[in-house]
Amino acid sequence: MYYQHAHLRFECTGCGACCTGGADHSVETSAPERAAIRAFLKLSPAWFRRRYLVRVDAGTTGIRLNQDGRCPFLGNDNRCRIYPVRPRQCRTYPWWPELIEHKRGWTEEARRCEGMNRGTVVPLSTIERSLARERSK
Ligand code: SF4
Ligand code: SF4
Repeated sequence: MYYQHAHLRFECTGCGACCTGGADHSVETSAPERAAIRAFLKLSPAWFRRRYLVRVDAGTTGIRLNQDGRCPFLGNDNRCRIYPVRPRQCRTYPWWPELIEHKRGWTEEARRCEGMNRGTVVPLSTIERSLARERSK
């Protein structure tokens, strides 16, 4: 696997680009994650569902991005407004299998995320912990 020998460097700059996607993107969430976010925001189930969620398919519900592609929880200062309860995919980025198993995935994503290839080398143990978490979905 590419990440096992590539000595990957990463240092987040807080640019917010990873919290922005295309019109067909959403932030995948589990039911417990949605419950935690809703409780954190102190919203009613109906309002939370209507305002923030999108059903991607029969088994997947995500956070619907705004029309400009930004996650609705991304503040104007590019900080996450639900940081303590942010979904797993946000916690494990950029250590997703599709981004680190092959050089191409990493190189392409680095065009979007300016924190990739920046800072010091991230220990393999840290990457593997995130990867295991991402794979446990
Ligand atoms: S939930 Fe927070 S970390 Fe995740 S995409 Fe939205 S703003 Fe970014
Ligand atoms: S795109 Fe990369 S550098 Fe920018 S906020 Fe996301 S993880 Fe950090």
